[in-house]
Amino acid sequence: MKAKTKLIHGIHIGDPLTGAVTVPIYQTSTYRQEGVGSHKGYEYSRTGNPTRAALEELMAVLEEGHAGFAFSSGMAAITAVMMLFSNGDHIILTDDVYGGTYRIMSKVLNRFGLEHTFVDTTKLEDIRAAIRPNTKAIYIETPTNPLLKVTDIAEAAKLAQEHDLLTIVDNTFMTSYFQSPISLGADIVLHSATKYLGGHSDVVAGVVVVNTEELAQRIHFIQNATGGVLGAQDSWLLMRGLKTLGIRMEEHERNARAIVEFLQSHPKVKNIYYPGLLTHPNYETAKRQATGFGAIVSFDVDSENTLEQLMRKLKYFTLAESLGAVESLISVPAKMTHASIPAQRREELGITDTLIRISIGIEDHEDLIEDLTQALQ
Ligand SMILES: *Cc1c(COP(=O)(O)O)cnc(C)c1O
Repeated sequence: MKAKTKLIHGIHIGDPLTGAVTVPIYQTSTYRQEGVGSHKGYEYSRTGNPTRAALEELMAVLEEGHAGFAFSSGMAAITAVMMLFSNGDHIILTDDVYGGTYRIMSKVLNRFGLEHTFVDTTKLEDIRAAIRPNTKAIYIETPTNPLLKVTDIAEAAKLAQEHDLLTIVDNTFMTSYFQSPISLGADIVLHSATKYLGGHSDVVAGVVVVNTEELAQRIHFIQNATGGVLGAQDSWLLMRGLKTLGIRMEEHERNARAIVEFLQSHPKVKNIYYPGLLTHPNYETAKRQATGFGAIVSFDVDSENTLEQLMRKLKYFTLAESLGAVESLISVPAKMTHASIPAQRREELGITDTLIRISIGIEDHEDLIEDLTQALQ
């Protein structure tokens, strides 16, 4: 089955009871038992819900994993994965991970004795050098935000296997449509489904997919024990979004290519960060391990003046956090998502005060380019 068909037929569709073509929304917290302990597989909706179960099964198929789990947000999914570890364990993470991941590692889980080291995971030697006797996992986000650094998943997973570590990949930016970390050797894939998987800026959700029955049992135990599950309505919305993931990603990327070309020719635009550019330092890796380059693009403009003017004059790019939706969004990492990072560290990383990140939507790219042209004038 090819990728777009899988999004529609990856799991058996419909409702056997009525013939309804879509999965019903089972808006129920509990289930009647025939006798004590005798039930149809569902007892209580934190433990399991048929609408959520359909989404979880679909996500396992899409990520080529063994089992999927849906959470109330990307951060709830990440938290559940981190609950696999114990006091005294050590995790190696990509140095420019999502801000929320940085926050939970350095401000919450550290209080429970979970140790961490942030390294540039695009450099295999840096990962190797960070491995300690108590290291349990390598956590990769690729490409990263906002500089789109790409880590070689297969290489990192091989190193992890040699040291008996788990490989965990945040696949939010590429999605299961463009990148399949489990087939590259990862053990666990997770998503902020709030972004491309949902795709319409209308649901906050998270997903975890694992590659073995043993990990599936452990994550299900944690999901049920900690309780950050996705509700039935949101599970249904996410499934609706997923059906068009393929056509959306293709269109997002087509637009991204056109806009990158435009930006390259603009005198007020300086550095452009996009893994699909031949000049991107990780272009070869990006090309090898994914079937697309995505639609998140960052670039520097020539001055803070230009930046302010751009923000004021753009019509089709909404100034907002988040990404991966049908509508184009724009943000200023140094002032928004990455404001909590000290200025000097930001400068070292390349997150300058004139850096702009755009999440390119699925509008007609001619309109988006016209909008950028007038705003940069
Ligand atoms: C948004 C995001 C998260 C967090 O997900 P929420 O759904 O906002 O909790 C995690 N990782 C990445 C890469 C993200 O973009």
